[in-house]
Amino acid sequence: MKDHHSSSVLSELGEREAVRRLAARLTSRADVRVGIGDDCAVTEADGAPFDWLLTTDPVIEGVHFLPDAPPEAVGHKAAGRVLSDIAACGGEPLWVLLNVVATDYCPMERLEAVYDGAERLCARFGAAIIGGDLSRGERLELHAFAVGRVSRGHAVLRSGARPGDILYVTGRLGGSIRGRHLTFEPRVREGRWLAEGGWATAMMDVSDGLAADVRRILERSGVGATIRLDRVPVSDDVRSPGKNEASSVRHALCDGEDFELLFTVRSNRSAAFERAWADAFALPCTAIGEITTEVGCLRVTDADGHGGVYGDQGYEHFRD
Ligand SMILES: [Mg+2]
Repeated sequence: MKDHHSSSVLSELGEREAVRRLAARLTSRADVRVGIGDDCAVTEADGAPFDWLLTTDPVIEGVHFLPDAPPEAVGHKAAGRVLSDIAACGGEPLWVLLNVVATDYCPMERLEAVYDGAERLCARFGAAIIGGDLSRGERLELHAFAVGRVSRGHAVLRSGARPGDILYVTGRLGGSIRGRHLTFEPRVREGRWLAEGGWATAMMDVSDGLAADVRRILERSGVGATIRLDRVPVSDDVRSPGKNEASSVRHALCDGEDFELLFTVRSNRSAAFERAWADAFALPCTAIGEITTEVGCLRVTDADGHGGVYGDQGYEHFRD
């Protein structure tokens, strides 16, 4: 018999509540600057002029990729997800460990191709895969763990947004399921540049969808935000004949695994920031809204200022 008093299953609790309950069972240490709840944990490096960044992510067959996905792309995704988290804190990725779970009948060539994909991406950003374990299991699973570093006290956190800050996002959003979720570019150079220039006051990578991820910044920073829907950069992957603009924007707000950077810049620096960005990168970076004083409240408006509060169920007007 199910015991309704003492237990609930994960699908009832939701991921965030489950993580909150688990985190409440843990004790920290004096050298931990940031524990559970940001893109990376941030720890002091014992007198060194930098802090460590630590993050880990699973990539599981049937959940994060289909069985027929190219193995190089699966490796790319496993490494890319953790590199993206390091980027989201403004850090330099250094080392990656990769645990692999595979079936008895997994061809060796498949694993080699997975490693090639992960290795190629890490090498491009100067990171090295230096360990991991191989275990037997029901399906292919990759569990990547990355270590990076950032100037001491300069990790860009989700908690730094203040009312009046301008909200920016890199690249274009939505429709990553069409393939970009396997081939995305972690924004490592951009993240480091944003941290080193002191531009970003808060930052994270877009993994669960723009609307859900903006909420994380609002919660951690104790602020609200207004997003201008007409400014949200929509990927060509969600545009198709017969699909209206509102539907495309909804995909850009709700689709996950874009792995773009979402960040805030003080409004008095935003003009200088936009010039500096344009000089440094070809990648688009778009101002999509503003941080407000309404704690936890996300509003969306169109170009004319019409709109309303964007609730957990989305904004009715912009539903399919
Ligand atoms: Mg993240």
